[in-house]
Amino acid sequence: MDFRLTEEQKMLHDAVYNFAKNEWEPRTVEIDESNQFPMWLWEKLRTNQWCGIMVPEQYGGAGLGLTEACLAFEAATHAGGDTGATLGWATHCSIGTLPIVLCGTPEQKEKYLPKLASGEWISCFALTEPNVGSDAAGVECTAVLDGDSYVLNGTKTFITNARIANLGMVLASTDRSKGAGGLTAFIVEMNSPGITCSSPFNKIGNRGSEQSEVHFDNVRIPAENRLLGEGDGFKKVGVMNLEYERTALTAIWTGVLGYNIDLSVAYAKQRQQFGQPIIRYAQIREKIAQMKMDYDIAKLLMAKSCWLKDNGISGAMESTEYKVFIGQANMRSAADAIQIFGGYGLLKECKIERSLRDAKLAQIGAGSEQMLLEVITRMVSGTRSLTI
Ligand SMILES: Cc1cc2nc3c(=O)[nH]c(=O)nc-3n(C[C@H](O)[C@H](O)[C@H](O)COP(=O)(O)OP(=O)(O)OC[C@H]3O[C@@H](n4cnc5c(N)ncnc54)[C@H](O)[C@@H]3O)c2cc1C
Repeated sequence: MDFRLTEEQKMLHDAVYNFAKNEWEPRTVEIDESNQFPMWLWEKLRTNQWCGIMVPEQYGGAGLGLTEACLAFEAATHAGGDTGATLGWATHCSIGTLPIVLCGTPEQKEKYLPKLASGEWISCFALTEPNVGSDAAGVECTAVLDGDSYVLNGTKTFITNARIANLGMVLASTDRSKGAGGLTAFIVEMNSPGITCSSPFNKIGNRGSEQSEVHFDNVRIPAENRLLGEGDGFKKVGVMNLEYERTALTAIWTGVLGYNIDLSVAYAKQRQQFGQPIIRYAQIREKIAQMKMDYDIAKLLMAKSCWLKDNGISGAMESTEYKVFIGQANMRSAADAIQIFGGYGLLKECKIERSLRDAKLAQIGAGSEQMLLEVITRMVSGTRSLTI
């Protein structure tokens, strides 16, 4: 495995980093306070052709891999772009669009990918329900075939981008008796009659992304919008997309580790106490060293997870370890960064407090820490826990 970036990868990384530093970071307090995804940012991402990074060129995308997508998300948050808006962007690029790239028919690709790649359309992915979180096999939302369309009923919740999305990848049960084996994935146009979305939830962090409840009330979906076959939603569509989703979303929090270091080092060098810059004190230095090790380990896990996937090799273990590690490292890093800032770390204008509010999601979304630790143990030992 060669760790050097290609010229093309370097150019993408630097372009995203510089854009985020100059145009995005200065507006992060405003984004955080708005509790909405910033549509001005979407227009910039579109103009830069960063909405279809992993979509094949024949459908108007950049035709790049998971490595490049992760480099872009990591660069954005390292430069100070907020994790919330990056989550909205990454959701579109990964779980909102990839199911069509990986599992779509030629007709589905032709119809939807050019709009998603150009950013004319925004996408979302809807699995979670009010009664269905970690136990995804228990989906209650139903899809019943009626003539040449399915009729969709039920409620999804915590759906990122739902309110602004034109297209949704929705998982519903076509056979409740089969559990996970009865789940089917559908491409749903979000302006279809019968779909309503709540206002964005009022979260502590990641406030530049929007999560809403989505109600499906007798929504008709053309049968040709089913992804693969009935019952393939979890076992095929889900499995084919899982490592991409896990790795791409984790890259968002990898960049934050770099951002926390940059701000902490700059502050510790200029803040004087007892006649010395506080960076001279061993306890501060240890925190910075720990933050740097966490960042470098996260980047190694990111590189390996991406390399495996881009070379057609399963990275189930690596992407899961990467996700668990990033959740723990972000909580550590954010808490230490604020500690280095002292009381000023608690003020919004110092722009470090947001890291702690944003970090918690990395231990919950896209597979909670407890569920992923269970997955790792299962892969290592071949045994299951008492509960799952
Ligand atoms: C900001 C945000 C964005 C999101 N975006 C999306 C999206 O775009 N699309 C989507 O479909 N979903 C989305 N989600 C939902 C997310 O995937 C779920 O929150 C996550 O899967 C956990 O489910 P839950 O919150 O219902 O927790 P629960 O499953 O209810 O779990 C609660 C707690 O119990 C623990 N737990 C559960 N079962 C076990 C067990 N067997 N053993 C040990 N511990 C257990 C969990 O780890 C957790 O700590 C989003 C969530 C958030 C907060």
